[in-house]
Amino acid sequence: MIYNFSAGPAMLPASVLKKAQNELLDWQGLGVSVMEISHRDPIYIQMTEAAEQDLRDLMAIPDNYSVLFMHGGGRAHFSAVPQNIASADATVDYLNSGVWSDIAIAEARKYVTHVNEVAKVAETPLGKAIPPISEWALSKNAAYLHYCPNETVDGIALYEVPEVGVPIVADMSSMILAEPIDVSKFGIIYAGAQKNIGPSGLSVVIIRNDLLATQQERVCTVMNYKVQAEQHSMYNTPNTFAWYLAAEVFKWLKAQGGLEAMAELNRAKSSLLYECVDNSSFYRNTIAPQNRSRMNIPFQLADSNLDTLFLEQARAEGLVALKGHRFVGGMRASMYNAMPVDAAKALVDFMTRFEKAHK
Ligand code: PMP
Repeated sequence: MIYNFSAGPAMLPASVLKKAQNELLDWQGLGVSVMEISHRDPIYIQMTEAAEQDLRDLMAIPDNYSVLFMHGGGRAHFSAVPQNIASADATVDYLNSGVWSDIAIAEARKYVTHVNEVAKVAETPLGKAIPPISEWALSKNAAYLHYCPNETVDGIALYEVPEVGVPIVADMSSMILAEPIDVSKFGIIYAGAQKNIGPSGLSVVIIRNDLLATQQERVCTVMNYKVQAEQHSMYNTPNTFAWYLAAEVFKWLKAQGGLEAMAELNRAKSSLLYECVDNSSFYRNTIAPQNRSRMNIPFQLADSNLDTLFLEQARAEGLVALKGHRFVGGMRASMYNAMPVDAAKALVDFMTRFEKAHK
């Protein structure tokens, strides 16, 4: 048994992969693969419409939002967002909560003159924390506020949605579909697919329709939200196979009990791991409890000389891809929706034995 803790591309539900395998050469009795038919074929369009409806049902997306299936993963939207909904001389606000926010900020600076960092992560007695929203240095007339609710590299999460009177843009790449959220609090939600949705390269955008009206002419047409909304995400040829797999993941999620069930599962998995780390002086996590991610859990061994041995022995037990991001070091366990609770139990069991042997 292999448990794959990769941060992304990450594990997908085995039943979804098996179904894709079964129908790889013959999709819906057509005698050809889903990759080999036109995206404009009515049977394919029917699939995309069902996918959109399933996503709308799962996330309770209100009718005044468009759902787009686009190219370019998460990063494409670091530049698409400012280009689409801010003019070149606008002011935009960004929370800097970690590596991905930082990259999004650098990208926004290419397109907008005034990019204001409203707050950044600070050391506190309880660990690294995002300052309270009431302390953020918000601009007076920002076109939007951007934040990343779950920083995949740092393992930092913000569970409160900032409500500050301007459209909220959220990079949900590593937490979309992991728990119910109130979509109506957001102007734009975007996410690369390769954690909780499907294969990399695909991205999902959920945009409030009034923001389509703020459309800037200069945007590269493939990344133009208004054009893609009008053309049902088929301005150019979409990634048809990735979209099909995403559709299967949405069906799987519904069958699992939807996002409430996922939230419960994700809480259970992450609590097991944080408890293990907190009850030990051998392992540590440096994030303040209120900002700890339930998806990506970085932890360090007190003695980093043991890192290689830890990774080798974990791998020998089928616990793979636990090496931390090069910016943070140590270990990182990513546990998205497809990861069963048994994986967290197996990891904790291994960590407990490893600690006993090397303390
Ligand atoms: N945002 C977040 C939060 C991410 O975790 C990632 C990828 N790990 C990205 C953006 C970038 O995604 P992509 O590589 O698909 O462009």
